[in-house]
Amino acid sequence: MADIAEVAENIYLIDDQLFSIPRWGSVYLLNEERKALIETGPATSASTVLDEIRKIGVSPEDIAYIIVTHIHLDHAGGAGVLIKEMPQAQVLVHYKGARHLINPTRLVDGTIEAQGKEVLARHGAVLPIETHRVQAIHDGDTIRLGKKQVLEFIDAPGHTKHELCIYETRNGGLFSGDAAGVYMAENDILLPYHPPPDFNLERCLNTLERLAKLTPSMIYYSHLGVSNKVQDNLQLAMKKLRVWDDIVAKAIKEDAFNDAPRRLIAQACAELEPIRGVESLKSLYDHLVNTHIPSCAAAHKILSRSHKA
Ligand SMILES: [Zn+2]
Repeated sequence: MADIAEVAENIYLIDDQLFSIPRWGSVYLLNEERKALIETGPATSASTVLDEIRKIGVSPEDIAYIIVTHIHLDHAGGAGVLIKEMPQAQVLVHYKGARHLINPTRLVDGTIEAQGKEVLARHGAVLPIETHRVQAIHDGDTIRLGKKQVLEFIDAPGHTKHELCIYETRNGGLFSGDAAGVYMAENDILLPYHPPPDFNLERCLNTLERLAKLTPSMIYYSHLGVSNKVQDNLQLAMKKLRVWDDIVAKAIKEDAFNDAPRRLIAQACAELEPIRGVESLKSLYDHLVNTHIPSCAAAHKILSRSHKA
């Protein structure tokens, strides 16, 4: 897959080279009468995103909507930078996340708390967005981009409290953000994705069931790629969530939480095998093993503590 691909009619996937890792983060451009970007990537991806939008033949000045599925910095951190090049754009965000894009202090502090100080270098500066350019979105809200393209927003809590999925009518596809896990489409690898602090297993499972009932024709994952095995992938996401939760719970019970990441990696080992040792995917593999999976283990632990409380 190239860095840009038209993955459905008028929908372009842009690899935003998230954290300088190829094939890890995607931003989608919907090239309709009113043009929309779904996800921004972090500020460190902004120049890549702008270049790729221009390569598609679209001027950033013509973008009408910057839509973020949630405010985690790898999805929304670049909005404040991008909007400076997109004078017409409104930022659409879950109503629970809107104030954190207007004043990102708490968002940045919370990210440092969850992931450590080095997170700032990885994501870049998070610039505030003027209040009048931020539109708070609720479950069921819709916007029309063109004759055949209407976007419908779905409240999708679980990965965070402030996540939206977006159904698009032109192709019948669903932008899942992080609500349906991460899916490395080229290698058919699906993994749960649940960093601290507000992962909630039950809410995740309910959201996945709700998404399945929408019977979309395909899923556009934010990490990274597209699948038309919609029901299989949603069921798999539910199954893996339960399996991972059991593994971490067992480790905690045995007073061996520090071993939980290793156990999760062992569980995912066979699936990760196709990308292990592939030179072009080395940074992706290392990120999954060293950052992604341990952060999921930490989130399960926080959840299990809150259950006990
Ligand atoms: Zn996220």
